[in-house]
Amino acid sequence: MDIEKLRDKWGGHSCEGLLDRAIGEFAGKIAFATSFGAEDQVLTDMLCKLDKEIVIFTLDTGLLHKETYQVLEKTQQRYGCQIKVLSPDYQSVEEMVAQYGERLYYESLELRKLCCKTRKIDPLRNLLIGFNAWICGLRAEQSPTRDSLQEVQWDASFSLVKINPLLDWSNEKVWQYIRDNDVPYNSLHEKGYPSIGCEPCTRAIREGEDIRAGRWWWENAEQKECGLHLGNRKQE
Ligand code: SF4
Repeated sequence: MDIEKLRDKWGGHSCEGLLDRAIGEFAGKIAFATSFGAEDQVLTDMLCKLDKEIVIFTLDTGLLHKETYQVLEKTQQRYGCQIKVLSPDYQSVEEMVAQYGERLYYESLELRKLCCKTRKIDPLRNLLIGFNAWICGLRAEQSPTRDSLQEVQWDASFSLVKINPLLDWSNEKVWQYIRDNDVPYNSLHEKGYPSIGCEPCTRAIREGEDIRAGRWWWENAEQKECGLHLGNRKQE
């Protein structure tokens, strides 16, 4: 895949323009991954308004907050769309928990990554095999591990094109869009959760803390990725 060519073709377009062209380019072979965070809700709103055929999916690790399941329902009702819910392989989870315990994620970085792999990455990998591109709601300012992102890039981890239309958006711009368009959002955002993942690995942050401080808060900032967004290499 010639990433440079895609960038040339799509450069200078608005976020909606980029989404529209990407869906046209990869017709039927492009998917959008949502975790129902504020950025993903912006993209869901844009995609549903474009009214194009695209698979929208989410990873249900089995350990999400009840508020996340509520926003899933609300989003489907609001946009009349069907969000595909991916679950981890039941037997793999059972074996992992039998071997390392229910709360293995607190034991070591290695076990936390094993949990993310089993509950998120393996089901994601199975799904993405059938696609040539995926859309994600990543923003560059969200984490020090995400500063090598580009709007359009090759995702070496999953061998497909990755599109990050909100790369340069600020947190303020995301929330302005949500207010202007009356987009449904996770109520945990109003309780100090800027970034929301699984319940055991997410907490509210205190004033002045970094927006990702509530995710895997016991780990170093450089280690705070679940593996979904590794393989991001800047392609000049
Ligand atoms: Fe497991 Fe925590 Fe990763 Fe969720 S975020 S898959 S609970 S380690």
